[in-house]
Amino acid sequence: MKPSYHIAVLPGDGIGKEVMQAAEQVLGQVAERVGVSFRLDYQQAGAQHYVDSGVALPADTLKVCEQADAILFGAMGLPHVRGADGTEIIPQLDLRFHFDLYAGVRPIRTFKGLPTPLASPKASEIDFVLVRESTEGLFYARGRGDVRGDDEVYDTMKITRTGTARICEFAFKLAERRALLKGRPARVTNVDKANVFASMAFWRRIFEESAARHPGVASDSAYVDAMALNLVMKPWAYDVMVTENMFGDILSDLIAALVGGMGMAPSADIGDRHALFQPAHGTAPDIAGQGKANPTAMILSAAMMLDWLGDRHGDTRLSDGAALMDAAVQQVFASGAVRPMEFGGVNGTADITQAVMNALRQVR
Ligand code: ATP
Repeated sequence: MKPSYHIAVLPGDGIGKEVMQAAEQVLGQVAERVGVSFRLDYQQAGAQHYVDSGVALPADTLKVCEQADAILFGAMGLPHVRGADGTEIIPQLDLRFHFDLYAGVRPIRTFKGLPTPLASPKASEIDFVLVRESTEGLFYARGRGDVRGDDEVYDTMKITRTGTARICEFAFKLAERRALLKGRPARVTNVDKANVFASMAFWRRIFEESAARHPGVASDSAYVDAMALNLVMKPWAYDVMVTENMFGDILSDLIAALVGGMGMAPSADIGDRHALFQPAHGTAPDIAGQGKANPTAMILSAAMMLDWLGDRHGDTRLSDGAALMDAAVQQVFASGAVRPMEFGGVNGTADITQAVMNALRQVR
């Protein structure tokens, strides 16, 4: 067990800064409760930093991230700040590639006490994880677009055996871990478009090879268009889902909507040596600076960080801390103590953070 955990903290732009303050407060309290120490090392990066300095992700920031035990990330990007090719400044993509954070982990579940857009009572059973391949797929084309005059543009989808096998293995291992924790059968659903693209037929073949290595885990495959339908019709039917980068990008917003809002969806970007934890939402320029942001996704992302660190360092204090944060968040909404503005309530960042801190004192 380490005496102190070094966390590189990149608040970023817009509401990233606001929700990071909330996470810092909650982390401080949980650290005291379980007896661990965090060294939060704040670093510059983002679209505003690009405007101020000409660099979105400074070398010094990268170095600190390299040395840290984990990276905690708010949100980055501002719609009006763009590079020469017209695309937004998105350092989180550079971090994913730089640290080979190949597994985008997006857990989603409904919260007692908060409404969901789905009418079925089964919506209360939604509890699954979307695993997104994050280093290749169609995002490989970023910065490599083949622009031919003013008539044609080509973006290339890259699917490799190594990249696909490691993300499928990750998904199967995650399903096995969840089955142990939740006492229910493990299942992995592969999402592709194998009926149309050679790259996706190849992806499916690698998925099936991985499935054969995990006979104890049920597995199946679906086309991404059918999955878009199923995620609205019966999202409670899934456990772990694995998919290509671009499909994962789109479906992760869809699944955040299933639980009522972006402010409830945490995420992690995990590699073999490094990991970054950030809310699934962006910088939300429409509400930035008004204290309206829901910090729950950021707080739950910090809880995922504790869980990952606990597992990696064999430190049960951290896993206990993660479970306490999770229980506190659940209690806050189940009790009706607060209702976030994105759910039509009156509570903003400060109220929700305070409510989670109060609940943290009570949960066991
Ligand atoms: P990106 O391209 O980085 O995903 P975006 O602008 O497409 O960013 P978000 O920044 O996530 O998307 O915002 C989408 C919508 O969700 C906005 O209306 C925003 O106000 C809302 N939203 C996002 N995060 C939160 C939050 N934490 N609390 C409340 N509302 C949020």
